[in-house]
Amino acid sequence: MDCVKAPRDVEDRLVQCTCMKDGFAALPPELRPRPKKKSSLRKVTCPGCGLVYWTNRKTDVCMECEKKGVTE
Ligand SMILES: [Zn+2]
Repeated sequence: MDCVKAPRDVEDRLVQCTCMKDGFAALPPELRPRPKKKSSLRKVTCPGCGLVYWTNRKTDVCMECEKKGVTE
């Protein structure tokens, strides 16, 4: 049972890593294909530092500024 289960488990993880992270991680946001699952993804400019990035969150404040306590 383990011999069959283990390889499949690894394969699933590799597929997920390739499409979720490694595939487009090095590309700028403009060149990344839009994830079909997140239709609410939008391009915003952080009011705290001016960073332009894609997010599906309701706030425009980026993660870094949010840590610093910056709000809109
Ligand atoms: Zn910011």
